[in-house]
Amino acid sequence: MPADERFAVIGHPIAHSLSPRIHALFATQTGRRLRYSAIDVPPDALAIQVQRFFDEGGRGLNVTVPHKQAVMALLADCSAAARRAGAANTLWRDAAGALLGDNTDGIGLVRDLRDNLGVAIHARRVLLLGAGGAARGILAPLLAQGPAELLIANRDGARAAALVAGLDGPVRACALAELVDSAPGAGTGTGTYDLILNATAASLTTTLPSLSPSLIGAHSTCYDLAYAQQDTAFVTWARRAGAAAAYDGLGMLVEQAAESFWLWHGVRPQTAPVLAQLRPRIAAR
Ligand code: NDP
Repeated sequence: MPADERFAVIGHPIAHSLSPRIHALFATQTGRRLRYSAIDVPPDALAIQVQRFFDEGGRGLNVTVPHKQAVMALLADCSAAARRAGAANTLWRDAAGALLGDNTDGIGLVRDLRDNLGVAIHARRVLLLGAGGAARGILAPLLAQGPAELLIANRDGARAAALVAGLDGPVRACALAELVDSAPGAGTGTGTYDLILNATAASLTTTLPSLSPSLIGAHSTCYDLAYAQQDTAFVTWARRAGAAAAYDGLGMLVEQAAESFWLWHGVRPQTAPVLAQLRPRIAAR
């Protein structure tokens, strides 16, 4: 019997990762034999560990915090999505041994919002909080959905401005502080938003960026890219502020994993049963 194909996710830290479980569920569902592990890789060992994994016969790597941007320097070529984001989360070698990369975060978010949750982006006012790696990955796919407006607000306003520089479309940037005192009729973040996405790392420390509840109306949907067993601080804040719905990023995680699976295996797994197994209450969303 041939040996199982080997896959892994690399990050630092990595023990918390749900990716091994998700890919094991996809493999069972699609009848494939594979081993998928989580490997803790400190930044100074990134290049050597990636090369060793593939030299030893590894088929594909997922990449998470803090390596998504650094792996770009190791790639022979990459997808347009990875190039635009300046970050990759899915790696493999082609038949000639060249290391290739793609970024599936953006498509994962859009699929969860649009297909799983029925949240419209087209012609809507969208507020994106954060300008780090995740924001870079989702920006172009969000703009491709044709929002009426996309405002990016970051703690460091200059970082948000750098992200939108040179982009076409209804996209602007501001500092988070400019949103704090937002009230109808005044300020950069004036009025309510149809969709507010939290792509800051604040939820990981159970903190919340300072936000005015006046950004939220009864029609607003809020989405935290972070996920946890309990509601994240942002999801709790959004519900208290009166949002129509508030979700965390577990669905995005499963969708971006499904896209990686498709890139590696040419098979698209069903995501709904995996979401349902990972968190029973997700079935009620
Ligand atoms: P980065 O470290 O690249 O960026 C962090 C961002 O968070 C920056 O914009 C930073 O602002 C901001 N930030 C950090 N702490 C605070 C705070 N206390 N208040 C306000 N802003 C803050 O992280 P990533 O972009 O890679 O990840 C962001 C989030 O997205 C994480 O929670 C991560 O788990 C989640 N994520 C989820 C995915 C999924 O599949 N569901 C996929 C990818 C990411 P500044 O620039 O001013 O420092």
